[in-house]
Amino acid sequence: MEQDVTELKPPLPPCPPWCTGAHGAEPPWHGIPWHESRPVVLDVRTGPVTVRFVTGIVQYPADPDPDRRHVLAWSHMTARVQMARPSDVVAFADMLTDYAGRLREVADELVIAQQQEQARVEADLKNASREG
Ligand SMILES: [Zn+2]
Repeated sequence: MEQDVTELKPPLPPCPPWCTGAHGAEPPWHGIPWHESRPVVLDVRTGPVTVRFVTGIVQYPADPDPDRRHVLAWSHMTARVQMARPSDVVAFADMLTDYAGRLREVADELVIAQQQEQARVEADLKNASREG
């Protein structure tokens, strides 16, 4: 279910197309709401191996620091790896290879998201100069 972004303080600009509408865990990080994509998640559970990779696109458009309002990708990994059999290592390698392909897709999505953000910023500037 989409959250009503008008209830967040400071208010968020309208959601970009890549935003899921989830806007992070409640309460928002440091009181700053953010836009976020659906994360790309890899859970590896092969024998004694437990690995989790989470990667997504995020933006803090209301951050007081303008340098931190850019659209960017983030990635987080937790790992506990103990591979007893050669087949465990091969399975782990196969999953990492697959995940690398999914990361390349996130890179393509980030190109589009940053282009959309640049267009939005330029449109805002154009509107502001017309109104001012
Ligand atoms: Zn959003």
